[in-house]
Amino acid sequence: MLIVKKFGGTSVADKERIYNVARRCIEDYNKGNDVVVVLSAMGKYTDELIAMAQDINEKPPKREMDMLLSIGEQMSVALMGMAMNKLKIPAVSLNAFQVSMHTTSTHGNARLKRIDTERIRRELENRRIVIVTGFQGVNKYDDYTTLGRGGSDTTAVALAAALHADACEIYTDVDGIYTADPRKVKHARKLKEITYDEMLDLATLGAGVLHNRSVEMAKKYGVPLVVRSSLNNSEGTVVKEEVSVERMLISGVALDTDAVRIAVIGLKDVPGMAFRLFDILARRNINVDMILQSIGRSGTKDISFTVNQSDLDEAVAALEDSRARLGYKELHSERNIAKLSIVGAGMMSNPGVAAKMFESLYNENVNINMIATSEIRVTVIIQEKDGVRAMNAVHDAFDLSD
Ligand code: ASP
Ligand code: MG
Repeated sequence: MLIVKKFGGTSVADKERIYNVARRCIEDYNKGNDVVVVLSAMGKYTDELIAMAQDINEKPPKREMDMLLSIGEQMSVALMGMAMNKLKIPAVSLNAFQVSMHTTSTHGNARLKRIDTERIRRELENRRIVIVTGFQGVNKYDDYTTLGRGGSDTTAVALAAALHADACEIYTDVDGIYTADPRKVKHARKLKEITYDEMLDLATLGAGVLHNRSVEMAKKYGVPLVVRSSLNNSEGTVVKEEVSVERMLISGVALDTDAVRIAVIGLKDVPGMAFRLFDILARRNINVDMILQSIGRSGTKDISFTVNQSDLDEAVAALEDSRARLGYKELHSERNIAKLSIVGAGMMSNPGVAAKMFESLYNENVNINMIATSEIRVTVIIQEKDGVRAMNAVHDAFDLSD
């Protein structure tokens, strides 16, 4: 078997944990498997690097930023190689250049385009464990890129797809995917299985366990994922196309407090306004999430939408720059909001799911600002201060605990 094993920052945070990971990999290796290990930077090292950059220049060039951030993963793989060597197992660490992980050029948010597998294959044939840097890539200018925060998951899935791996295991500091963040929701329960689509929504909505692009890629290439803890042997959660257990109405509740809302008030009520507005943001690579447009009255309309906190300043600046062209009256932004979502493939065939969510929020006296739905999810924008209470109420209303 060829197994890709990915370990997050907490799993390699110190010497003891590095050895723990090395042993887990060696166990598979000793059974005769080919083992490819993908690592994140140790602990909070990426955050520390970001802080160092900020200290030098509060708006560092994105290229230099990637140059810096690529250090974190390179450090982990080298140390892992040393640990395995100490344990007398042949291993080799490789960075994005050595493998050749080709990405698009966008620094800080690059997408993997192609992975050369030749070097890895050769090392595996020589019975070495191959340890690969997560998160980083190389663009067509031969510069380092990074895949966005949490991007190592995506590296692992992409490698599993490129190598036609038999298994792709994502090790983290939690036991698997829960119905809600167990640190915030008392009755949260671990799921045995979840579909790609549900997981994709949960990942995008702030469940925080898997990088959403990794799930997108797993679905596209049909790579079954197992999410499990590096600190114990519990079974984890399988992410795949179809789940076999009886489907629950919803599989999870997610809370995202990173979202902020921007309201553009008093736009002219004519065709092309939405296009002009969102084109300005798209050109700056700003991801817009929920969009709400009011019904036009006396020739004007309002459009509000959410973006990620980190894009707020740039979005506001872009819209202010374009004020003359857009011709709106006012621009408001609101930071203290949260996005609460329920996700579940079961809602496709069951009416009343949204109403049930709204009822539980009403019972808690939580006001809803915006609503968005898709086939398998319902998302509401609420006040950030209500977030955790609302999340627990919704979780309990759907009886997701055992
Ligand atoms: N080290 C990177 C980060 O902290 C990538 C990852 O952990 O997946 O975002
Ligand atoms: Mg992660």
